[in-house]
Amino acid sequence: MSVNERADVVVPGLGHAGAHIMRALAEAGLDVVGVGPRLVAGERGHWGHIDDEMTPGAGYLLSAPRPTAPFARGASRAAGRSRTVGGVRGRATGDRVDRRAADLLAVKRERFVPGRGRLTGPCQVSVGERTFHARRGVVPATGAQPRLPAVRGLSGTPYWTDENAMAAVELPASLIVLGDCGLGVETARLFARFRCAVTVVERQPRLLSWEEPEASTLTERALLRDGVTVLTSAGASEVAYDGTGFTVHLDGGTEPLRGERMLVTTERQADLTGPGLDTAGLVASSAVVPADGQMRAGRGLRAVGDVTGRGPSSDVALYQAEVAVGGILGWPGPDTDYQKPARLVYTDPEIAAVGLTERQARNQRLRVRTSLLPITSSDRRGPQGRRCEGFVKLVEDADRGVLVGATSAGPAGAEVLYALNVAVHAEMSVERLRHAVPACVPFHRTVEAALGGLC
Ligand SMILES: Cc1cc2nc3c(=O)[nH]c(=O)nc-3n(C[C@H](O)[C@H](O)[C@H](O)COP(=O)(O)OP(=O)(O)OC[C@H]3O[C@@H](n4cnc5c(N)ncnc54)[C@H](O)[C@@H]3O)c2cc1C
Repeated sequence: MSVNERADVVVPGLGHAGAHIMRALAEAGLDVVGVGPRLVAGERGHWGHIDDEMTPGAGYLLSAPRPTAPFARGASRAAGRSRTVGGVRGRATGDRVDRRAADLLAVKRERFVPGRGRLTGPCQVSVGERTFHARRGVVPATGAQPRLPAVRGLSGTPYWTDENAMAAVELPASLIVLGDCGLGVETARLFARFRCAVTVVERQPRLLSWEEPEASTLTERALLRDGVTVLTSAGASEVAYDGTGFTVHLDGGTEPLRGERMLVTTERQADLTGPGLDTAGLVASSAVVPADGQMRAGRGLRAVGDVTGRGPSSDVALYQAEVAVGGILGWPGPDTDYQKPARLVYTDPEIAAVGLTERQARNQRLRVRTSLLPITSSDRRGPQGRRCEGFVKLVEDADRGVLVGATSAGPAGAEVLYALNVAVHAEMSVERLRHAVPACVPFHRTVEAALGGLC
C-alpha cells in the first residue's frame, strides 16, 4: 500500500551535491528528505580521490612505495601472496562511513530514505511504496555512471570499473587500464606502487591530452618511473576474456596485450530514465539535464552535479549545490559561471590547472605570452619527502596583460594553483601580480619567478 508523505524539499541522490544540499537546507530549518541507494557523500570520496594526504591508509601507502611499519598489516599483505589494494582503503571509507554519514544526517531535520528515488510527477518522488510531495521542490543529484566505449567483446567480459578497482581485496599480477581520463592515470599509479604490472592504453597521442603537453610529459615520466607501461595513440579494437585473463587487441594489428584484470575508465554519463527525469518534461534520451544559471531545470525542479553535464567534478557539483540552496531559500546569488574551471589530476606529481592552455589561447587568436619554470628551482622537498619535480606554466593574454590560464604541477600542485585560480578569475594584471610578494613559501616562489618570465 502506498504511503504519502510531505516535505519541503526532496533530494534524490546523496552524493557530493545532494548531501551538501540536504545538510544546508536542514540547517536553514527546512524539512528535507534525502534519498540514496547506498553511498552518502559522493562517488569520489568512496571510489576516487586517490591523493596522498586526504586518503587515510591508502594515501600513506601511496606515498611510500615500499609499505612500512605504521601499516604493518597492509604492508605484510602487500609484500606477500595475498596482497590488498582497496581493502586498506575500503576499511576506511566503506560501510562504516555510510553508517556514520547516515547517522549524521539523522541528527538534523533531514530524513534519510534508503532506496532509489523516482520522479513520478511535479514535486513528487516515489521510493518503493512511499511517495513524497515536496512543497518547495525536488533537487535531483543522481550523478553519472560509467559508460563503456564501443570495443568489440568488451561488454561480455568481467572488466573492472573504478568501483571494482577500489573494492579489490586481491592484487592482480597485471592490470590493463583502458583510457586515461585522469582517473586511469591515478589508478595506474596506485596499482603500480603495489607492484602490479600496469599498462595504460590511451587512444590520444599523449596522456592527459586536454592539459599542457608539459603536464603530459611529466606524468608519463613519473608513471614510467613507477614501472607503468604507457601506450599512447593506441585504441583497443577487441577484448576477450578466457577465465584467467584478458586479451586486448589494439588498432593497427600490433601484438595483443594480456592482463589478469582490465579497468575501463573512459567515460561517465548520467542516467535520466532511472530517476524518472523524463516525467518533468525533460528529454530522457538526452545525456544531461539542462539547468539554467540558478540550476532550475523545470517547475519545482533544480538539478545539480554530474547530472547537469557540467564537470564531472566534485567541486563544480558543490558550487552548483550552493547556488541551488540560495535559490531555494529565496536569496539567489549570481548565476553559475563555468568559463574558467579549475582542474586536478591526483598523480604524483599532482597536475592542477585553471583557464586556458597555451593551445586553447592561441586557438582563440589571443596574442599569447607564456612562461614555464620548473619547481626544482626551489630546493624544498615535497610533502612526506617526495621528489620535488614539477613546473609552473603561465599563459598571458599579452594585449590585455592578464593571465588567462595556468598550470601548477608538483608535490603541492593543487595548493599552489589556488593563487593562480584567483588571479585568472579576477583577470588580475600580470603587472599587479608581480607586486604580490609571497611569504616564504618555496613552491609559491616558483609562481613569482614564472611571472618574471612574462616580459
Ligand atoms: C573514481 C572517481 C574519482 C573521481 N575523482 C575526482 C577528483 O579527483 N576530483 C573531482 O573534482 N572529481 C572527481 N570525480 C568526479 C566526482 O566524484 C563527481 O563529479 C561528483 O561526485 C559529482 O557529484 P554528484 O553529486 O553529481 O554525483 P555523485 O557524487 O556521483 O552522487 C550521485 C549519487 O546519486 C545516487 N543515485 C543514483 N540514482 C539515484 C536515484 N534514482 N535515487 C537516489 N539516488 C540515486 C548514486 O548512487 C550516488 O550516490 C571522481 C569520480 C569518480 C567516480
